[in-house]
Amino acid sequence: MRVTKATVRRACAVCERTLLQGEYTIRFSPDGVEFVDVCPLCQDFALDYGWVREGGPISPTLSAHARKKRPRWAQFLGVGNGDPQPVVPEPVLRRLSDSEAALVEAADLFNASLFRRTVEGVARALGAPLVSIVPLSGVNSELVLTFAWEITWYQYRVLPEAGQPIRLADRGADISEIEGAFTDWNAGLDESGRVVPNVAR
Ligand SMILES: [Zn+2]
Repeated sequence: MRVTKATVRRACAVCERTLLQGEYTIRFSPDGVEFVDVCPLCQDFALDYGWVREGGPISPTLSAHARKKRPRWAQFLGVGNGDPQPVVPEPVLRRLSDSEAALVEAADLFNASLFRRTVEGVARALGAPLVSIVPLSGVNSELVLTFAWEITWYQYRVLPEAGQPIRLADRGADISEIEGAFTDWNAGLDESGRVVPNVAR
């Protein structure tokens, strides 16, 4: 059934431009799992973001590259290059409630992820986004991080316990598409492009 495939609207994952029928695209994976289409004009941006190119003969270089660009717990604990810093200094963190601390942790995880570059890239073009961090009800302490501009939005799942804690969950081209549950804008980007929940300001 190729009918569905032909009618799906494809867009460049970086500039969000609708791709023309038959237009040449390069497949990249922002998270190493899902692949997205990137138009030729944006492929340098995708590489800048640290996205993985599909089928590229780049695995060894790329993993070295990704390792450097993907600070994990070592960096949070100050073992790595120290960037990014936690958004909240330790004494402030101790004063926060559990639910506030969960927002801070989600922000720290996002700030340490490659996806931060995507958001920074869009923010350079469109200005500061509206940002929300919403814990989902349930036992697995999952949160949803939403970044919205008038003409584009990105939504990420944050799974603090997962090996790969940040996943791109959804995105769209109109802020009005975002569910109401995620439009209580309770966070923002600071001057260095990090997500900071309002509780931490
Ligand atoms: Zn593009």
